[in-house]
Amino acid sequence: MSLHIQTDFPGGNACAIDVRQTADRDIVYFSADPRGGTEALWFYFRVVECSERPVELVLSNLDTCLGGGSEQWENVRPVIREAGSTWQHLPNAQIDTLADGRRQAAWTVTPRYDSFECALCFPYGLGDLEMTRASCGDYWHLDLIGVTSGGQPLPRLSNTPAATEAPGLYLVARQHAGETPGSWVLDGLLRRAASGLDPADLLIWTVPLAHLDGVVAGAYGKDPFPWDLNRAWTNPPMRHETRVITSDLTRWAQQAKPALAIDFHAPSPTEAEGAYFFLPREERPKASRTAAQKAVKGIAPALPKALLHVQPTRQVAYPSRWDATATLDAHIWDQFKIPCLALEIPYTSSHHTLLTRDQYRRLGATLLEGICAHLQVPLAS
Ligand SMILES: [Zn+2]
Repeated sequence: MSLHIQTDFPGGNACAIDVRQTADRDIVYFSADPRGGTEALWFYFRVVECSERPVELVLSNLDTCLGGGSEQWENVRPVIREAGSTWQHLPNAQIDTLADGRRQAAWTVTPRYDSFECALCFPYGLGDLEMTRASCGDYWHLDLIGVTSGGQPLPRLSNTPAATEAPGLYLVARQHAGETPGSWVLDGLLRRAASGLDPADLLIWTVPLAHLDGVVAGAYGKDPFPWDLNRAWTNPPMRHETRVITSDLTRWAQQAKPALAIDFHAPSPTEAEGAYFFLPREERPKASRTAAQKAVKGIAPALPKALLHVQPTRQVAYPSRWDATATLDAHIWDQFKIPCLALEIPYTSSHHTLLTRDQYRRLGATLLEGICAHLQVPLAS
């Protein structure tokens, strides 16, 4: 066998693969697979049967990936994992322009073993979630609240399933399946809660892998057909997952006093100036924006400056293919009149800090500290 590429595992994504040999290296041309959607970005593949020669990984469809037109793509640093070692960032991309004007991004790996994995960002799937839950003792309860449109059980964690007098926090991640930074930040929050939060003081329910079908299939999941999950919060809902989570939100609101929700995302991969919160769109009620701004003002002081944008709030203004007001934050405001903050977390770096998994988790831990400060809930250090 000679060098080839595998994608047949959870989260795997690469297409248009072409492997070529030159005198001094192997070159793997690949594209991020839109998986039937309108946007491409997420990739995750395994390179097997490497020799000791360098392997050049070339993203061929850069121009048509999200943010692909930006000059900043050279700062995008995917991660690789070799046998027996942990995920590490590659160096900056080398951007090459072809004769006809198309551009490609390339990264070179010198393998130490005969295989390695490469992904846009640290993958996070059901196995990672289960490991985190197990490492938190019996703090997080696991319940299956329904199924995805593809028929997979959809997990929800809670720090207590039962009624309390406490305020309630609801957390959702991966409405856009490929936005793994959101999962690592949520992961840090889950661990921080287990180490210092009494469930009697703050009830937390979370759907960590909202677009689970896309997570498993390796979809990027931003603006996919038939409907983006975060544009499907209509009444009646446009996707089965939103129907399942809507039911769960209703139960949550009966078990605690709804106080706050957070929806974890990642922006264009070229954004590297820190995490920030999206405020509700202009056409949404002014009171929802004011409430969101107030929550950010209460939370942001706890977040490390190195990981936060200097302007921690931003107005949503990007164009949408579907009803842009049918988002989770709008649904939650209309239902409970509480803010749902959409948190955008960069892929590679923040200011000059490289975003390792520890940095993501640090952001999640401090996010919980900020939430507790804002809601005046005790949190043991
Ligand atoms: Zn998103």
